Amino acid sequence: MERITQNVYVETKIRGCNPGIVFTEEGAVFIDTAQWVTYLIDMIKFAKERGPIKYLINTEGHIDHIFGNHWFAKECPVIGHEKLEDIFWTVAGDLDCYDYSIDVLERQDKPGLKLMPSREEYIINKPQITFSDKMSLKVGKHTFKLYHTPGHSESQIAVHIPEEKVVFVGDTVFSDCQIWLHSADIDPLIKSLHFIEELEDVEYIVPGHGPVVKKDYIKKQLAFIYEWIAAVADGIAKGWSQEECIKNISFANHCPVDIGQDEMMEYIQRTNVIKCWKYVQGKNLW
Ligand SMILES: [Zn+2]
Repeated sequence: MERITQNVYVETKIRGCNPGIVFTEEGAVFIDTAQWVTYLIDMIKFAKERGPIKYLINTEGHIDHIFGNHWFAKECPVIGHEKLEDIFWTVAGDLDCYDYSIDVLERQDKPGLKLMPSREEYIINKPQITFSDKMSLKVGKHTFKLYHTPGHSESQIAVHIPEEKVVFVGDTVFSDCQIWLHSADIDPLIKSLHFIEELEDVEYIVPGHGPVVKKDYIKKQLAFIYEWIAAVADGIAKGWSQEECIKNISFANHCPVDIGQDEMMEYIQRTNVIKCWKYVQGKNLW
């Protein structure tokens, strides 16, 4: 793991989200969970060598962020946005969440398969503590400021720890990798990016995927979103149908997909076109 400040560790180099650990005087607070079981268990061991685990916070409900919640069921309470309930453990592409996770392990973390509980034993460990707009939590001398930052998904949150000058923003930011707009509502996403940009006491932004960045990356993320919208709006202005836009528009050369998901490039391009198409036509999905 990468130690980004005195008490904050983040993993940005494995498939799935960027899970993090914040060490406080009272114990560890996890933010999201790793998708590779072997890695997840190592992280839990690493934390417990230093003390108890106090909380797990989920920044969103997509499988790559909540898959590991099972392993925290007997450890600590889980915190998340109240709307997380609606999408928790529902779908993951064409597969159900359990089969999707098995598939990931089979392809990328074979030793993890032995550590995976059966479908019956797997605990769908939803947040026990939820909030709507914002929430502040004191653990030891650290403050965890949780904000609802909808956009990438409806239940998206940011976790700001001012004492460490770190904010975990989940998939509101994808750094140096393809942005997934498939579940997004673009206006709130843009608003949430501006909100994060205006937060004080932030030196490090931990994105959902890709390397840790500074605040100046927010402008790059906004620029990429506007490029997507402009390309699709341009296509519509030329009279292209949605299918023609899908055929003709691609930002595949812009940057890679996050680690271990190269096969998703076409899906991302197609669903981003569809989302921007609806956006330009004035139709929002939520
Ligand atoms: Zn993600």
